[in-house]
Amino acid sequence: MKYCPYCNRMVKPTKKVAWIPFIVLCLLTGFMWAFIYAIYYAFFKSKQCPICGAYKLWDSPEGNEPSLNKKITNASVDLVKKGINKINKD
Ligand SMILES: [Zn+2]
Repeated sequence: MKYCPYCNRMVKPTKKVAWIPFIVLCLLTGFMWAFIYAIYYAFFKSKQCPICGAYKLWDSPEGNEPSLNKKITNASVDLVKKGINKINKD
């Protein structure tokens, strides 16, 4: 499960196929498109939100970047604490 920031909920990412353009392109290219699309679908197509179709899904409701910021904040808090300890010792 992934978190969709646009739907504000956990969703099961899916690979969607736009069937109408797919069928039209198949007919136009004599079904060459079916082979090209099959390769694209298997190797390059990324999973998206089944509700709104967004590609940018997060691992958790906190998102990817805020958790990184939290880590940086914790690291700087530790540095400040160490600095204070040093000053106290002196
Ligand atoms: Zn969504």
